[in-house]
Amino acid sequence: MTSPVWHPYQRLNPRAEQDPAVPKVIGGDGVYFELDGGERLLDACCSWWCMIHGYRHPRLVRAIAEQADTLSHVMLAGLTHAPAERLARALVRVTPEGLNHVFFIDSGSVGMEVAMKMALQYHILTGSPEKTRMLALKRGYHGDTGGCMAVCDPDNGMHRLFSPLLPQHHFAPAPTAPFDAAPEDVESDLAALREVLERHHHEIAALLMEPLLQAAGGLNMTSPHYLRGARKLCDAFNVLLVFDEVATGFGRTGKMFAADHAEVTPDIMVLSKGLTGGYLGHAATLATDRVHDAFKGESDLHAFMHGPTFMGNPLACRVALESLAVFEEENYLEKIARLSRVLTRELCEDAELAAHPAVAGVRVLGAAAVIEVHNAADLDGLRDFARARGVWLRAFNRYLYTMPAYITAEAEMVIITDVMKAWFLEKRRMEDH
Ligand code: PLP
Repeated sequence: MTSPVWHPYQRLNPRAEQDPAVPKVIGGDGVYFELDGGERLLDACCSWWCMIHGYRHPRLVRAIAEQADTLSHVMLAGLTHAPAERLARALVRVTPEGLNHVFFIDSGSVGMEVAMKMALQYHILTGSPEKTRMLALKRGYHGDTGGCMAVCDPDNGMHRLFSPLLPQHHFAPAPTAPFDAAPEDVESDLAALREVLERHHHEIAALLMEPLLQAAGGLNMTSPHYLRGARKLCDAFNVLLVFDEVATGFGRTGKMFAADHAEVTPDIMVLSKGLTGGYLGHAATLATDRVHDAFKGESDLHAFMHGPTFMGNPLACRVALESLAVFEEENYLEKIARLSRVLTRELCEDAELAAHPAVAGVRVLGAAAVIEVHNAADLDGLRDFARARGVWLRAFNRYLYTMPAYITAEAEMVIITDVMKAWFLEKRRMEDH
């Protein structure tokens, strides 16, 4: 019998009964998960880049169980509870200075929807109601909901079918200067941003970006100088700056938040994924006093009309607090720095990999690494190849990446990078014969 579960991002086979069974995960422990046949796989992607502590972390499991025994859920409208209050304070403490207000939601996409709605309403309330469009970056990804699809990379075709549903926004080119670029090297990227702002600022409410690391856009990395320049441009053109730190937040780029590399405070910042260590779906959209205080007033226009059922869910807030405590007490930033050094040594400094004809580039930032190939077909079959070697790796388009859990040991990291390299080097040996 075929499964009633409908999976994302893949064509359905008209002869589904001929498909190989989708691997069924029966449990996870540390950086491994186990399939029902007994196979144990080392997870190189920490699920969808969120299980930063690995699976079945005792402190996180206990936090959920204890909270469930006290209060599993209650509406956050007109009521509050200790886990939400404590988590909001903790997030204000760890995020860039000035983000003093926390709006809870239940997923990264909805966090971005909230950011866009806040930006639009902010301009209505501050006398610029004509600012109704967003400015996003090409190669960006912000989620699959209606509002988010409209600000994802317009060129990759992912949401092409849904264009009749989507409002028109503006796009600037994706930055091209690398992470370690000198200030003058980001000038052309910033000039391209400035050009769109000069032409359209009168209707632009906010600039949205995944700071430093466009994750789903192929782990496209850029420089902190670009963030600083973007901040200045937004100030000059009365445009709010929104950082989508759904993927970059909680250490992925080597600092707690990507914004910290540039010491820039966005007007609005969105967090999810690592927020709960991946243990429950949850998200937070943070705002500065400037944004928040614009909503103070007596008229109907001042109410922020968004309130999903599970916002501020106590279980999710409680596990997020525990996740943050583990992150801080166990010096995760040091663990991430160690992983980054291993990734750099094993991938960026491997001359044979760099010289491989299929390879277009190798990049590492924090605990994120990618091997970019010239042709997507060069990654066909990668998943089975890695699985046969005990590693769960999922390539997409032209990108073979790893975003490991931060508890991944050096030896395990090397197993992952060895499999990534073996894919190219064994293939080449086969082609040479
Ligand atoms: N923003 C970024 C940068 C993401 O990487 C993602 C998901 O991968 C999202 C937003 C959407 O988050 P969610 O899948 O929780 O809706």
